[in-house]
Amino acid sequence: MIEQKDFGIELTTLEPIRIGGIGSPISGIDNPIAIVGGKAVVPGSTLKGAYRWEIERYLIDTYFDRATKKWKDKNLQPCIPSTKLSPDENELVQNGLYRFYNLFQQKGGDFKGDGCHYPCTGKCRELHEICPVCYFLGANGLEGFIKVPFLYAKTAVDELYSANIDRAVQTVKQGTNRPYQLVPDGTKFNCTLTVILKDTVRDRELGKARNLKDKTRGDAWLAPHPRSKEEIIKEFIIDRLESIKTIGGYKSKGFGKVDIKVKS
Ligand SMILES: [Zn+2]
Ligand SMILES: [Zn+2]
Repeated sequence: MIEQKDFGIELTTLEPIRIGGIGSPISGIDNPIAIVGGKAVVPGSTLKGAYRWEIERYLIDTYFDRATKKWKDKNLQPCIPSTKLSPDENELVQNGLYRFYNLFQQKGGDFKGDGCHYPCTGKCRELHEICPVCYFLGANGLEGFIKVPFLYAKTAVDELYSANIDRAVQTVKQGTNRPYQLVPDGTKFNCTLTVILKDTVRDRELGKARNLKDKTRGDAWLAPHPRSKEEIIKEFIIDRLESIKTIGGYKSKGFGKVDIKVKS
């Protein structure tokens, strides 16, 4: 039996937002926004990226002491889920903000990235584990408790687009010489986010460490101290989603500010 809980998410754009879609010669639009079924969308991957970043930032701000470069609980340190780290990311790992698993460092001492994974590929320095972010959103080879869906705008694209022309022209003046589509401010997007509370078949429950058979420290951040579902839902779901303040591209041009409200 699977027990789950739905949350209604409403995103309101406070500034125009721009999340690029795939161009089509028929539409005649050079830089279209992401559209599904005639409606502007915030793709699940975009929302997930913003959400992931919010959880990471929260963990670092709350549980990491920048002065001593020490974690209050090392198990809460997030991973960077990419195999090639940028110089900036490399520095974050060096300073202890993010974990790294790989046994070998690259030439010049740079870290080789590797996010949380299961089962272990045997290239980890020590018995690996799953970080809190991947516990919720999924690690490589292991499902999480939350599936992040697409957000859909209520307004049809034709209505959005006619509203866009003027704005686009205004923005074009400031730099690019190609027009682009955007979603105006004041647009509302909605979706339903589903969280797994309990899955009796796979023996897992939100707030508790999962029983993983392979050699791993697994959900070490929860193993000795399980957390209540209510606590988890507030701290890692509602509060983190509502902390997302920007989304999409062109942020330096005054784009991207949003407000998110979560209702259970
Ligand atoms: Zn992770
Ligand atoms: Zn490993």
